[in-house]
Amino acid sequence: MKKLLEEILDKCRIYTKNGKVANYIPELEKADPEKLGICVVTDDGGVYCAGDSEIRFSVQSVVKPVILLQALLDSGEVEVRKLVGVESTGKPFDAFNYSDQALKREHINPMINAGAIALCTLIKGNTYEEKFSRLLNLVRKLAGNPQMGVDESVYMSEKTTGNKNRALAYMLKAYRLIDGNVEDVVDCYFKACSIKADCVDLAKIALVFANKGILPDGESAFDKKYAGYINAVLMTCGMYDGSGEFALNVGVPAKSGVGGGIMAIVPKRMGIGIYSPALDGKGNSCAGIKTLEMLSKELELSIF
Ligand code: GLU
Repeated sequence: MKKLLEEILDKCRIYTKNGKVANYIPELEKADPEKLGICVVTDDGGVYCAGDSEIRFSVQSVVKPVILLQALLDSGEVEVRKLVGVESTGKPFDAFNYSDQALKREHINPMINAGAIALCTLIKGNTYEEKFSRLLNLVRKLAGNPQMGVDESVYMSEKTTGNKNRALAYMLKAYRLIDGNVEDVVDCYFKACSIKADCVDLAKIALVFANKGILPDGESAFDKKYAGYINAVLMTCGMYDGSGEFALNVGVPAKSGVGGGIMAIVPKRMGIGIYSPALDGKGNSCAGIKTLEMLSKELELSIF
């Protein structure tokens, strides 16, 4: 497996040239666009890494499935469905031109910014700090890595420049989808996006979703019905407005983030973590997607 991964990375490194690192927040612009790393964690406990798999980066939107999971665990499916829909929007992750009429829950899903911000309100906790700390603990538990934490400079950068996300949150409040202090809600979201991980962490989290909530030690972290819910939403909405193409060419549930990470879930078989920060126009890692396409063909990963 390691040899196969190295061969695929050698072929895909060239695609890092097709993209650009995210620059919507100053801290992300510092990433090296030529980096490319992968980790595959298999159901039988194998951990295979290649390339720049040890670089730590901010997870950004890759945290969204875990926000959804925490909201489901804390508030249940009925409350989640009252707040966000499950249809892909076909629009960029931070769009807010849903329609000229009222913003309704059917217009948003958990994998776009508005949906993830809304779901932060369904996490239990007396304060947003408490809510965030429960979310971070869940991330650590799924990754089996108690050391995971927030990249403070990315967080500060998000907080100082994240006015579009603030605007989205105020829209949610204006249309009564959320209540409470908007600054506190977005602060929880900014911190969540700023959690630092490497490819191994992402692959391990993906493996738990692939195994329907079962951790490597056999303990169940969550009900398998939630894995079904989250994997289905990831399949249709996880790769921004490139989810259809990704379903055709790779064929597994996955989530990307503008930090360059991709977490891909191969049901019952493996979890995959990728890092390559040069992004295409939709916010997906250029070389990361090519790597997953090749790996999917080689190992017949597509679920279709
Ligand atoms: N922090 C980013 C934002 O909210 C996350 C976006 C992403 O990774 O898609 O704009």
